[in-house]
Amino acid sequence: MSENVQLPFLDRLSSRYMQLDWRVCSRARLSRDPRFDGKFYIGVVNSGVYCRPICPAPTAKEKNCHYFPTAAAAAEAGFRPCLRCRPECSPGTPAWLGTSNTVARALRLISESGLEDGGVESLAERLGVGSRHLRRLFLRHLGATPSAVANTRRLHFAKKLIDETTLPMGQIALSAGFGCVRRFNAAIQTTYRRTPTQIRRLARQKAIQPENEYQFQLRFRPPYDWKGMLAFLSLRATPGVELVEFGRYRRTIWMNGCAGQFEVSLDADHNSLSARIQFGDPRPLFAIVERIRAMFDLNADWVEIARTLRGDPSLAARISAAPGLRVPGCWDGFELAVRAILGQQISVKGATTLAGRIVRLFGRAYDGNSGLTHLFPTAEILAEADLTRAGLTRSRAATIGALAHAVCDGQIRFEGIIDGEAFLARLCELPGIGGWTAQYIAMRALGEPDAFPVGDIALLRALGLASSDQLQRRAEAWRPWRAYAVTYLWGIGKEKAQKLGKLATVRTSRPSGQAAVA
Ligand SMILES: [Zn+2]
Repeated sequence: MSENVQLPFLDRLSSRYMQLDWRVCSRARLSRDPRFDGKFYIGVVNSGVYCRPICPAPTAKEKNCHYFPTAAAAAEAGFRPCLRCRPECSPGTPAWLGTSNTVARALRLISESGLEDGGVESLAERLGVGSRHLRRLFLRHLGATPSAVANTRRLHFAKKLIDETTLPMGQIALSAGFGCVRRFNAAIQTTYRRTPTQIRRLARQKAIQPENEYQFQLRFRPPYDWKGMLAFLSLRATPGVELVEFGRYRRTIWMNGCAGQFEVSLDADHNSLSARIQFGDPRPLFAIVERIRAMFDLNADWVEIARTLRGDPSLAARISAAPGLRVPGCWDGFELAVRAILGQQISVKGATTLAGRIVRLFGRAYDGNSGLTHLFPTAEILAEADLTRAGLTRSRAATIGALAHAVCDGQIRFEGIIDGEAFLARLCELPGIGGWTAQYIAMRALGEPDAFPVGDIALLRALGLASSDQLQRRAEAWRPWRAYAVTYLWGIGKEKAQKLGKLATVRTSRPSGQAAVA
């Protein structure tokens, strides 16, 4: 055992994380099962290093292994990240954490903006709990305090930028949120026992990247139904803003006053999506990457989801036929909400056409040389726009106008949401937004795995149920994964309807406010 290894908290480990079953962890570790990647980390006593379950290094003896629910917990216990399996590249903590909604929400807030504005106190205040209680919850579910979790994320992202980009170190220090180069150097040196420059030399980057272009590997826990995801996004791609071709998804983005684009494709061999980001300002890279991860639902824990949903016979066959389906999220909540309103009572294709017209009339031109021509118009622009010019009915134009005004006034926000119910209630106050539209927006914009559009006609049809009450009772068994069941069933509903040649009937019989999603 190396003398340098200091493991101050090791004696407290074994009984601390009730939710980690070491036998499951052990099996996953020995088989290097990628479905468990990011669900736990292994601290190896002899080396003082912590690893992902898929680490290619020779497997350590069981007696030398300690299991941690998060990388931050392993780091808190004194372990360093392994340089071979690179824990910074793991798919991360599953989005859903058993009984603790508070921790899940806190993690979402940390991933959106770190702990920069006000630290743990203000995070706790926003979540409506005491900061000591929040720390206790974090320790129980994640094995680390909120600040340790935020620190580890920052450090991991810095390591990713060192390995996967050619950004100057000063720029990385700022992008990863260290504030200054000195703190960044110190943190990297302490954690990796190497300077940032030494780490970059080890990384052996394959290709020279053009300026302002960054390539990231974003890992997921397999399986991942990339075809299903692309099919869903392709049907709804807003002309000029989004493009799906040759198995890739591409779109324009606008952030911190800067325009750019990204492209995402599947890298099945590495259980990851490959994201190529073109953006002039590297500072918001962390935020961009996190938003792409959320959009493609990369934190999902498929093993758990499938285990629950297979219990319903209507879902079991579909899950076997198309394993790894994810709930498609969105790049921007406002844009998604506009799309949802446009889709009310018309076909998906019709809504896409309207969206394209709005973009051509009101979106800023974008010259990306890639088939992308516009940025989606901001809420400020649409609040003042005459949308009837794009062919919208007066009432639909009024709804989008009201939404845009509410976003400009800060009445409705799509980031930093902590109370889904209040968010839904505020959306429903807008003229022309009913419960179904609000729930659909919440499902795709908040990434809430248990979101559920109650009374959805396509769901009733897919299950052959007569009433909303029956549907709600049936859906109890899908919890906490109702959003995944819904996404599957929309697929089933569509197939059935197409088989019967009755798609038109499905469309016309929707209650007002419900869009054709399936
Ligand atoms: Zn390793």
